[in-house]
Amino acid sequence: MNPFKRSPPPHPHDDPRYPVHKTDDQWRAELDPMQYQVARQAATERAFSGKYWDHFAPGTYACVGCGTPLFESGTKFDAGCGWPSYWQPINSEVVERVVDETHGMVRIEVRCNHCGTHLGHVFPDGPQPTGERFCINSAAIDFKPAE
Ligand SMILES: [Zn+2]
Repeated sequence: MNPFKRSPPPHPHDDPRYPVHKTDDQWRAELDPMQYQVARQAATERAFSGKYWDHFAPGTYACVGCGTPLFESGTKFDAGCGWPSYWQPINSEVVERVVDETHGMVRIEVRCNHCGTHLGHVFPDGPQPTGERFCINSAAIDFKPAE
């Protein structure tokens, strides 16, 4: 899949098209301040500051906003960048790709396709078999250990 294919213009993280809806007050109540800033305001946590950049236990990583499983430990790799990195999501339906032209760059933002939570960005410099690197904020995901 080409991450640079044309996408619709950016739309809000609380766009009504997302199936899961919460008010801003609900988001603030359910998330801690860092999770809120990242997940709902599209902030980026500082490199090497999150809880999962060097976390490699077997299990799945779910959306902090709605609990949808997004990434599996088997696709996680050490990109050396200070954020959890994966070469693919659990499937192509759970994440949404949005063109992000903020900060003077053109990047592809990755969101939870269920609740609009900002997860991170995807870059075309990952390992095979996909060649993609999903660079994800620890604050946007929750790890669930394998049974
Ligand atoms: Zn979500």
